[in-house]
Amino acid sequence: MNNYTIAIHGGAGTILKDDMTPELEAAYLMGLQNALDISYAVLHEGGSAVNAVKAALVILEDNILFNAGRGAVFTKKGVQEMDAAIMDGKNLMAGAVAGIRNVRNPIELAVEVMQNSNHVFLSGKGANDFAIKQGIKLEPDEYFYSQFRYDQWKAIRDSDNYSLDHTHHHLEELMKDKKFGTVGAVACDSNGNIAAATSTGGMTNKKYGRIGDSPVIGAGTYANNKTCAISCTGHGEMFIRSVAAYDVSCLMEYKNLNLHDAMQKVVHEKLMNMNGEGGMIGVDAAGNAALIFNSAGMYRGVKNNHGTNNVAIYR
Ligand code: ASP
Repeated sequence: MNNYTIAIHGGAGTILKDDMTPELEAAYLMGLQNALDISYAVLHEGGSAVNAVKAALVILEDNILFNAGRGAVFTKKGVQEMDAAIMDGKNLMAGAVAGIRNVRNPIELAVEVMQNSNHVFLSGKGANDFAIKQGIKLEPDEYFYSQFRYDQWKAIRDSDNYSLDHTHHHLEELMKDKKFGTVGAVACDSNGNIAAATSTGGMTNKKYGRIGDSPVIGAGTYANNKTCAISCTGHGEMFIRSVAAYDVSCLMEYKNLNLHDAMQKVVHEKLMNMNGEGGMIGVDAAGNAALIFNSAGMYRGVKNNHGTNNVAIYR
């Protein structure tokens, strides 16, 4: 039997202990542990990596603290548009959706695209039509509402910022720990198959149908049994431009780097060189995991069949 491992993230960014109340910190850690336990149980019972990452993401999407599903950030127009992707490292099958609304669990729609369509990437209204046709669960706008996300958006909605302008001090203060709240999971199952999944509301005040790296296969999400399964979080534009997730895979495939060294190079050298703040989680088919970020913190957790069971927030 192969080693089995699950790793998850709930976003990276300027997450500082000083900005956190003990209650909020405990709630985040509990949310992470809960997702970790439920997805680990899938692996422990012999379930597939695909089912494990999906299970983790459903829990995190349902948790209002994270920027995915319920609690997703608001766009310039004051609505929630969500992106998600999943990839199966066993056969390189993938499914992704972008700019979808009212879908309770965007990851379920991504899985549906992967398993029950002839396509990889659906967007906007068409993706929503497909969701309805497949009987995917929908919710009214109110379901996704979070006061915190609303206040975040209200503070910048009249500007052209989307929480990245470092000259607006007040804005930065407000955005601080919530800049990136995307959720993701990577898993290696007891058969040595790996998978990756990512889900997000994107960036607060985004407009023009902006889509980040999360649903872009190779940028924010990638899995290949030969190399690694990766899920990213951070400033999406940089992760797209550096094809971050696939770059880790390439460093492993063509340069024979191990998982940790390949991720280290992409996060601390390549992304840093272009001011790409954020991080990523990864596993390989031997069950090794790595969780690496260049920001102050990353909500994260890892659990395996050798007794590792950690959740953490700060560096
Ligand atoms: N990477 C995501 C995006 O750019 C944001 C995040 O990680 O929270 O849409």
